[in-house]
Amino acid sequence: MTLAFSPADLTLPCAHFIGGEYVRDTAAMEVRAPSTGAVIARVPVADAAMVDRAVGAARQALAVSGWSGLRPRERLAALHRWADLIEAEALTLARLEAVCSSRPVSHALTGDVAVTAEQIRFFAEFADKEGGDLVPTGDGSFGFIAAEPYGVVGAIAPWNFPISMAGWKLGPALAAGNAVVLKPSEMTPFSTLYMAELSVRAGIPAGLVNVVLGDGAVTGTAITAHPGIDKVSFTGSTRAGAAIMENIARTGIKPMTLELGGKSPMVVFDDADPDLAADCLERGILPNAGQFCVAGSRILVQRGIADALAAKLAERFARPAPAATWEEEAGFSPIISEPQLQRIDGIVQAARAQGGEILCGGGRFDRVGSFYRPTLIAGVSATNPAVTEEIFGPVATFQTFETEDEAMQLAAHPTYGLCAGLFTRDLSRALRCTRRLEAGTVWVNRYGRSRDHILPTGGWKASGLGKDLGREAFAANRRTKSVLIDL
Ligand code: NAD
Repeated sequence: MTLAFSPADLTLPCAHFIGGEYVRDTAAMEVRAPSTGAVIARVPVADAAMVDRAVGAARQALAVSGWSGLRPRERLAALHRWADLIEAEALTLARLEAVCSSRPVSHALTGDVAVTAEQIRFFAEFADKEGGDLVPTGDGSFGFIAAEPYGVVGAIAPWNFPISMAGWKLGPALAAGNAVVLKPSEMTPFSTLYMAELSVRAGIPAGLVNVVLGDGAVTGTAITAHPGIDKVSFTGSTRAGAAIMENIARTGIKPMTLELGGKSPMVVFDDADPDLAADCLERGILPNAGQFCVAGSRILVQRGIADALAAKLAERFARPAPAATWEEEAGFSPIISEPQLQRIDGIVQAARAQGGEILCGGGRFDRVGSFYRPTLIAGVSATNPAVTEEIFGPVATFQTFETEDEAMQLAAHPTYGLCAGLFTRDLSRALRCTRRLEAGTVWVNRYGRSRDHILPTGGWKASGLGKDLGREAFAANRRTKSVLIDL
């Protein structure tokens, strides 16, 4: 099977997907391929009226299909058929993903698409297994807690893993009996549209999965403000998450789940396996050119092994060779857009100006496309912008410490708390530090999610509210009702 393709040979869906069909609208935004910077399509921006049409289609579909009241196994079976179809159409999906994003087509195929099908099946299985609760009350009454879907979930996704993010939003919402109005990122809309099309082909009633295209200011704001949206599920930056909270507070309170940014520490003690640590530090920042929320962008190393580890990392950071995302062999990923590359470089140059020592990288690759060199910065203080800001690029800082206490102080970020990595062979120390770290996830002697989808993911502090994945994600798509009956 050939994976490589030419962007010009793909047919790109460029319309909203509402009520089971594509809805054309005035093209208002350019979509570019970050691998070359070329404009590959023009897509519409859904205004409040178009969002209203999508919400109407979702409500209508819920009413007509009786989705939330079906026998749960029927919902489960429909979601399994959708996952099967996603696998059957994996190559098309992977290409639609790779053409405009930072995901190499081979990674999208074997990673993102495959795992998303698996996660949709994982959520489908909750449909007929998670009920409400019978609760103890006095003899004279009967009490139970019913769990019911919200109705219409408004979902907003980022550009860094479009297929995965769509799966994280749609899987649990549909399994729990909701309909969804989903806005993918304006930079990466195509794979999400095709997933929606596949949902209808799989027999999920038309109108349960609606995709509206557009930016945050117009379309995102219209979704979060719409009175017919019963719950908001957002993944993206902390800045946009705050704007959404504000908008919801102003336009009508509704529940929300926010998966936001991070600035995660990787703490390496001198008893750690040095090769394992180096592998994980590399895996913690270089995949997808560091454009993932749980990137381990702050490396903290105990003094005794710091020089050796820094040299090892500098050598590893010099290896990746960039390649367009549509090449057969995956290369180092591009930065999603030129403005984002400029932002990354701005932070790196500010870090240098404030005393940072660039151990490797520190600039763009000399080639077409938005490719930035893997960059390691030492000599940074706790207030250096490279240490405080989420960079969302292949840039890590390298700091050293003497004691466990000092390590824990450096690991604490004033605002973010998404995840943390710990490397030590001392079990007691691992458990002590795990307790002290303020983060929604701690990985010990590994870095990165496994395929144990039961482990929820989500941030503490300004990294978010609520969880994706796990039982929590399913629960977050239902609301409970306490019922007490006098007998
Ligand atoms: P972003 O916040 O700029 O955009 C995310 C989405 O929100 C896009 O669809 C955008 O159009 C929309 N949006 C922007 N402003 C909005 C507003 N005011 N109202 C409604 N919608 C709005 O983020 P991004 O650059 O696409 O993605 C990168 C960010 O996402 C990083 O901060 C990263 O850490 C975060 N992220 C978090 C997780 C997680 O699970 N915690 C996962 C992936 C990405």
